[in-house]
Amino acid sequence: MPGGYAHAKLMSSQFPLTPIAEAQARLLAEFSQLTVETVPLAHAIGRVLAETIISQIDLPAFANSSMDGFAVRALDVADAGDKQRVTLKVIADIPAGTHPEGRIGPGQAARIMTGAPIPEGADAVVPVEDTDIGIRSAGVDVPKIVQVHRPAASGANLRPPGQDVCKGDTVLTPGRRLRPQDVGVLAMLGTSQIPVFRQPRAGILSPGDELLPPGAPIEPGKIYDANSYVLRGLVTQTGGLALPLGIIPDDFAAVRQSLDEAIENGVDFLLSSGGVSVGAFDFVRAVLEQAGELTLWRVNMRPGKPLAFGRYRGVPYFGLPGNPVSAYVGFQVFVKPALIKMMGLPQLPRLTRQVRLLEAIESDGRESYLRAYAVREAEGWVASLTGHQGSGNLRSLVQANALVIVPAGVKHVPAGSQAEAWFFDGL
Ligand code: AMP
Ligand code: MG
Repeated sequence: MPGGYAHAKLMSSQFPLTPIAEAQARLLAEFSQLTVETVPLAHAIGRVLAETIISQIDLPAFANSSMDGFAVRALDVADAGDKQRVTLKVIADIPAGTHPEGRIGPGQAARIMTGAPIPEGADAVVPVEDTDIGIRSAGVDVPKIVQVHRPAASGANLRPPGQDVCKGDTVLTPGRRLRPQDVGVLAMLGTSQIPVFRQPRAGILSPGDELLPPGAPIEPGKIYDANSYVLRGLVTQTGGLALPLGIIPDDFAAVRQSLDEAIENGVDFLLSSGGVSVGAFDFVRAVLEQAGELTLWRVNMRPGKPLAFGRYRGVPYFGLPGNPVSAYVGFQVFVKPALIKMMGLPQLPRLTRQVRLLEAIESDGRESYLRAYAVREAEGWVASLTGHQGSGNLRSLVQANALVIVPAGVKHVPAGSQAEAWFFDGL
């Protein structure tokens, strides 16, 4: 067991503050996209497509009517008008889902419904409104003759095969999070099993002797565990799966037992909060140092400096700081990009806007992420901070819709100046 503060001081000097960008790049290099699995179409929404989808068919697969009406030869109705009605003999009735047998000859027509196949010989559809049958025709027996009072050009009101998709077209490419319309087109292609990337599983633990589960009676000196819930939400919101391991005593063996349990359950990475600062009871870092590998500790950021990263039994381990705001920001800055990579998604740039600060900001020179509320005004975005920026004050994050980023090395940002605001929940 490492010996408290003296040891921690020694460690600090071995782990200088790593710049955020460097830490991000180093951590991201530790991850790769997960393996591919197949899911039924009904479970594919929100999953990330893992293979190129090339259509084996045309869509529509066959020429069909886009209107309820009469399939005709355009030539036959070319001169139709109110004063010059063209009378055609109706030789067939073609509801959707049937396959027409006959052929439309000169002077002939077939009643046809939307989506029904165009019979041979016909090259246009006259909408029912342009005939003497009118909209009353639904449910009515097929008439013997039809009078057409408006011409229909060749190709009118029919959808040729391949109008939407041609056989051989690339319809979807890997690395796309499937939306309802994407799954719809997969259904139209007849696909029922979809290759997707496996969802990353995160083992989430909250070490801390002071922690109680919400719902338990409060005790002197204790606090409720918030981070389990925040981290679980962030993991699932990003598209991963959470394995909650609960509150763990500040004890070397207990932390290890919990990590072992997570690994037996097949997690892809481990996520804890707390136990990484320069304190005597910070067991997480000790576990990594003694039973794993600590590759990064302490980042030049505020909040979130004591962030640790390493591997436990080969499994990547993020040791986020315990203060809830630090844990949240640490997740957004480091864990989310890793999750995105494991999921097979491309890294997208942060959603940011330049904002005018309504108040001055003091920093200590670390790259700072300050909770702010930004609104769009006539002349642009303006932002003010949401209360005390202590890293334990989660309410300030509840009130915020953005994080204002102060670059490393900057200690004072005057009121009225421009800054970058990161809209972590969208605009
Ligand atoms: P530590 O790094 O373990 O010393 O934790 C730093 C601060 O974060 C302390 O005030 C802890 O009580 C607090 N903290 C640690 N874990 C949690 C948690 N799961 N929920 C809320 N606060 C926490
Ligand atoms: Mg602790």
